[in-house]
Amino acid sequence: MTDALMPVYARADLAFERGEGAYLQSSEGDWYLDFGCGIAVTSLGHAHPRLVEALGEQARKVWHVSNLYRIPAGERLARRLVERTFAERVFFCNSGVEANEAGLKLVRKYHDATGNPGRWRVITCTNAFHGRSLSTIAAGGNQKHLEGFAPQVEGFDHVAFNNMNELRNAITDETAAILVEPVQGEGGIKPAHLDYLRALREVCDEYGLLLFFDEIQCGMGRTGKLFAHEWADITPDLMSVAKGIGSGFPMGALLATEKAAQGMTAGTHGTTFGGNPLAMAVGNAVMDEMLRDGFLDGVDRVGRTLWQRLQDLAARYPRVIEEVRGAGLMLGLKCVGSNADLVAELRRRRLLTVPGGDNVVRLLPPLIIGEAEVDEALDKLDRACAALSGGAA
Ligand SMILES: *Cc1c(COP(=O)(O)O)cnc(C)c1O
Repeated sequence: MTDALMPVYARADLAFERGEGAYLQSSEGDWYLDFGCGIAVTSLGHAHPRLVEALGEQARKVWHVSNLYRIPAGERLARRLVERTFAERVFFCNSGVEANEAGLKLVRKYHDATGNPGRWRVITCTNAFHGRSLSTIAAGGNQKHLEGFAPQVEGFDHVAFNNMNELRNAITDETAAILVEPVQGEGGIKPAHLDYLRALREVCDEYGLLLFFDEIQCGMGRTGKLFAHEWADITPDLMSVAKGIGSGFPMGALLATEKAAQGMTAGTHGTTFGGNPLAMAVGNAVMDEMLRDGFLDGVDRVGRTLWQRLQDLAARYPRVIEEVRGAGLMLGLKCVGSNADLVAELRRRRLLTVPGGDNVVRLLPPLIIGEAEVDEALDKLDRACAALSGGAA
């Protein structure tokens, strides 16, 4: 019976009982290759032995204490994130939307603390996704998400993604920050041009704006670097992270420079659950794996192999796939027909993928896959494309 659930999702009639690495077993006993990762979340695959051990060990000690006390594992994880990034301060929370909300608050607080309380508006991109709270649906600007939830939260100005002219023209005396996904996820796997990211940094420096990257989907190793903006060799002032950071344990983080975070003093923001010992134990175990020598290079390598194989596939099935795009293991197939049909064909062949905006099928496999999983996925993709283009399957 699903009637007791608020029907805000159109769910597939499919449930899973267990997982192992890149595979999920359904309650019917069928094994599926998981190239969706619960929407880019289970970055190290299912039931990773060292994550299971870390969570189990912590579960036997203490689950929750609140942020009224020190949480040493959180101090350690924050230090490790700081060592590997532009950031000097970290706020832990439980989800992506909370990380973005914290970031939007930080933006206002920064300008208030530095004597510019009149700067509070944020420039965001069309086709963006930043979460489902009242403020982040306004930031995203997707009419489907806003419908029926008026009045809309004020303070967001939308410009076309990858377009510097529009962006420059949108800056006013009230502009406080620019919020951008280095690779748009829900919008259909659209990477920002690296020159665009660099130009954003320059324009923020020119006008004294904060550069805010939403790396909730594209961060934590997904593109083959720990964070996607590293490909452009520039740094933001703040960045939201979630999804892959807990590899399935609900967790998010806002990272910021000390300067950007200067207004965020005791009492200005908070969370009951954020950064609790269970999450921090898993978060540190995820970092242990991702920071291992060769891990990110491996993601880059397998991502390039998958990319090449998908290009070949698209060339063979031009009536099914219009374009392949993305970075690392965050790849999108823009469909000719409906993306939902391809997702369903793939699911029938026991390959899990995720639909995205712009008629795209998202491939978001765990970062631990190798050639064998790529081969298997391509075989299923090939048969699904053949079925959709009218051939034998
Ligand atoms: C998923 C996502 C969010 C929202 O994260 P939740 O954990 O669902 O709140 C925000 N921004 C981006 C880019 C995302 O992919």
